[in-house]
Amino acid sequence: MIYLVGSGPGDPGLFTVKGVECLRKADAVVYDRLAPEALLAHARPDAELIYVGKKPGEPSMPQEEINALLVELGRAGKTVVRLKGGDPYVFGRGGEEALDLTRAGLPFEVVPGITSGIAALAYAGIPVTHRGLSTSVAFVTGHEDPTKGESDVDWKKLANGAETLVLYMGVGRLAEISSELISAGRDPETPAACVRWGTRSDQRTVTGTLENIAEKVAEANLKPPAITVVGNVVALRDEGLDWYERRLLFGRRVVVTRARAQAGELSRELEALGAEVFEFPTIEIQPPKDFRPLDEAIRELDSFDWIVFTSVNGVEAFVERLRHHGLDLRAVPRRAKVAAIGPATAREVEESGLRVDVTPEEYRAEALIGALEGDSLEGKRVLIPRAKVAREILPEKLREAGAEVVVPPAYESVPSSKGKTRLEELLENGEIDCVTFTASSTVENFVRAFGEEDAARLLSGTRVACIGPITAETAGKYGIGVDVEAGEYTILGLVDAVVDLFAAGDVVEKGG
Ligand code: SAH
Repeated sequence: MIYLVGSGPGDPGLFTVKGVECLRKADAVVYDRLAPEALLAHARPDAELIYVGKKPGEPSMPQEEINALLVELGRAGKTVVRLKGGDPYVFGRGGEEALDLTRAGLPFEVVPGITSGIAALAYAGIPVTHRGLSTSVAFVTGHEDPTKGESDVDWKKLANGAETLVLYMGVGRLAEISSELISAGRDPETPAACVRWGTRSDQRTVTGTLENIAEKVAEANLKPPAITVVGNVVALRDEGLDWYERRLLFGRRVVVTRARAQAGELSRELEALGAEVFEFPTIEIQPPKDFRPLDEAIRELDSFDWIVFTSVNGVEAFVERLRHHGLDLRAVPRRAKVAAIGPATAREVEESGLRVDVTPEEYRAEALIGALEGDSLEGKRVLIPRAKVAREILPEKLREAGAEVVVPPAYESVPSSKGKTRLEELLENGEIDCVTFTASSTVENFVRAFGEEDAARLLSGTRVACIGPITAETAGKYGIGVDVEAGEYTILGLVDAVVDLFAAGDVVEKGG
C-alpha cells in the first residue's frame, strides 16, 4: 500500500492522526523539503527514510523519478508513506503520483493534510473567508511551469474573480503578478500579506497593499517558501487576530542546555510561548561504568528505610535497572518511605507506580534534608540512586543526622558538545536571545565546551537565565553575568523568569 500523506504546513502538531498511523506502519518514507522533519520520529526505527527534496546547490529529484521510485517500492511489496508538505493535492503533484500508481496497478490511499494556504494565514491572523469581507477564495499558483510557453493562469479573470486570492510559490514573481492583477482591475489599495514558513517558530509576515507588497517583501528580504494573500481579510490581522506572533516569546531564540533526554519539558514550554529553541545538550546521560554498587543496593533493597530520588534521570535509571533484573517497583519494601527532590522527580516516581511520601517545599538538597528530619534518621538506611558526580551535601548531611547512606551511581552525565560550532556562530552574531541553565552541571559543561574565557565572553552578548541561586552562583564563579533567576526552582519557574526578562522590555543591560 502506498499512502500519499499530507504533512501539514510546518507545525508538527498540525499533522493528522491518520498520518501518524500510516507513518507507524511504513517500511519506507519518501519525504520532501516542506514536510517537517520532526514527523519522521513517528516512523519505525528500521523504516527506510528517503529524502527527495532539494539539497543546497542541487535540483530536487525530477517528478518522474519520484513516481518511478514509488512504483518500485510498491512493487517490492512495501508499505510506503509518501510524505508531502501541506496537502498532497494542493500544488503538491500528488495527483500525478497517484495516476502513475494506478497505472502500475498499485493500491494507494490519500491522507489529506492542512494546506499552507489556509494554515500559514490563520497563524498570521488572516481568515481566508470572513462574513462581510470575503465570500470566496481562490488558490493560485504563482509559479509557472517553465516548459509551457504561455501562462496557464488567467490573471484577468482571477483579479476580481474571488475576494481572497491565495498565491502559492509566488514570491519570486510578486511584482509581475501584482501589476497584472492591478491592470486587470483589482484595486491597488487591496490589503496584502506574505507569510514565510508559516506555522513554524520562525514564521515571518510582511504586510502591505497589492501595489506595494512586492517592494515590501523585497525590502524585508523575505525568501520562499511563502504564501501571499490579497484581499480585505488581511486587515483582520491588525484587529488583534495575529495571536501566534503575539505570544510572549515569539521570535525569541532560546538555548536549552539540558541533556537531550530531559530537554523535552523545557523546550516544549518555551516553544508553546513562541520561542525558537536551540537545544545544546551539554550533557548526555549514559549508564554508569560500573553497575555493581547499584546491583548490590537492589539486592538488599529490603534493608532500606528511605529511598531518595534527586532527579528524573535517577528514577529512570533505577527503574530500568530493576527491570533488567526482572523486577519492578514492587521490590521496594512496603515500610520504606520515598522522597523526591522536586515536582518533576516526584511525577516521574508516581508515573513509575510508586507513591512519594516527601517532597520538600523548596527544591534543593538542603530543603530535602530538612523535610526528612521530620522523621528521626538515627540508624536508618537511606538509598540515593543518582548521578556518579553530584553534589555531596545531601549524603553528608544525612550521615551527620545518624543515617547510613548508600549512594550507588545509577547513571553518568558525560559532557557533550554537539552543535557547538553552530551555537558559537549564533552567539557571536547576537542571534541568541537567552541561554538557560537548569543545574550547576549544565553551566560547568557549557564552560568546558567553550573554554572559560570564551564561555563568559560569548554569554556576555546575550541574556542568561538560571533555575536557582546555586546554579547562578556557579555561573558567577566563571564570570558569567546572570540576568535572571527563577523564583521557583522548577522548569516552569525558569520559563516564567525568561518571560519576565522579555516582558521587561527589549533592551536589557547585562550584568544587572
Ligand atoms: N502542498 C503544499 C504546497 C506545495 S507548493 C500545501 O498544501 O501547502 C510549495 C509552496 O507552498 C511554497 O512555495 C509556498 O508558497 C507554500 N508553502 C508551503 N509550506 C509553507 C509554509 N509553511 N509557509 C508558507 N508557505 C508555505
